[in-house]
Amino acid sequence: RPPVGRKPDWLRAKLPSGPDYQAVKKNVREHRLATVCEESMCPNIGECWSHGTATLMLMGDTCTRACRFCAVDTGNPRGWLDPDEPEACADSVRLMGLKYVVLTSVDRDDLPDGGAGHYAACVRACKAANPETGVEALTPDFCGREADVETVVDSGLDVFAQNLETVERLTHPVRDARAGYRQTLDVLAHAKAHRPGVLTKTSLMLGLGETEDEIAATLDDCAAIGVDIVTFGQYLRPTVNHLPVERYVPPADFDKYRQWGLARGFLEVVSGPLVRSSYRADRVFDKNNCG
Ligand code: SF4
Ligand code: SF4
Repeated sequence: RPPVGRKPDWLRAKLPSGPDYQAVKKNVREHRLATVCEESMCPNIGECWSHGTATLMLMGDTCTRACRFCAVDTGNPRGWLDPDEPEACADSVRLMGLKYVVLTSVDRDDLPDGGAGHYAACVRACKAANPETGVEALTPDFCGREADVETVVDSGLDVFAQNLETVERLTHPVRDARAGYRQTLDVLAHAKAHRPGVLTKTSLMLGLGETEDEIAATLDDCAAIGVDIVTFGQYLRPTVNHLPVERYVPPADFDKYRQWGLARGFLEVVSGPLVRSSYRADRVFDKNNCG
C-alpha cells in the first residue's frame, strides 16, 4: 500500500478530451456558465460532460455549516437568495445540452425552510425548460424537517440524494455537528415513503478510517430504508486544515464494495477511487429508465 500523503497512480485522472466534451466546454465559455465540475476541478469532467452530465450549485457559495472534509466557505448569508436563479439554472441546462443535471447546494440553515422552496423552484424551472433532462437534487438535510423534504421531493425531480458521507462512528468528526447519520437516513426514508417513484441515493467517502464491517453495516442501513443508489469514492483532503486521508482504498476494494451493495439489492452501486456522488449519474438514470 502506498504511504498516505502521496497519491497512488490510480487517482490520476485522464485529461478531458473528445468532441462532445469540447462542445459543452465551448458553450460554458461563451455563456460564462458556472459549474461545480469546473470549480471543484473534478477529475471526471471529460467523462461526465461527454455524456451530457453536469452539476450546478444553488443558493450561493457560503455554507452555514462547517464539515471537516469540505472546502466550501462557512458563513451566514443572512437570508440572501437570487430570485433569478431558477431561470438561470434552467438556461444553463439548456445551453449545455444536458441530459442529466445534478442540482446541489450549500446548507442554508439561515432560511426558515432551509431553501427547500427555492430548490423546488429550480427543479421546476429546469424541467419546464428541459422536459427530457433527468434532474437529481443533492440536497441539504433540512435539519430533518419532513415538510421541507416533501417540498423538494414533490418538485418533479427524478432522483433525491442526501449524502451520509461516512459511516456512523465517523459522522462526527467528519460532518458538521448539526448533521447526523440517523437524521440523513430518516430524510432518505421519508423521501422514499412520501413518493416511492423517486429514486433515492446516498454517497460515502472512503479512506477516513472506516472499517469494512462499518461499510457493510452502512449498506445494511441503506438497504433497510429502500435507498436505490449508493456511491463510494476516495476521500481526498482539500487542504492541510481538513481531515487527513487515513487510507487510499485500492480499486479492487472499491469493486468488492460494489458487489457487496449489489448483493443487497441496490439498483446500482457506483464505486471507484475517483467517483464523486454525481459521477456519470446519467448512466444509472438511463439504465432504470426512470425519466
Ligand atoms: Fe460542505 Fe455541505 Fe458540509 Fe456545507 S453542509 S460544509 S457544503 S459538505
Ligand atoms: Fe461534474 Fe459530478 Fe461529473 Fe465531477 S462527477 S464532472 S462534479 S457531474
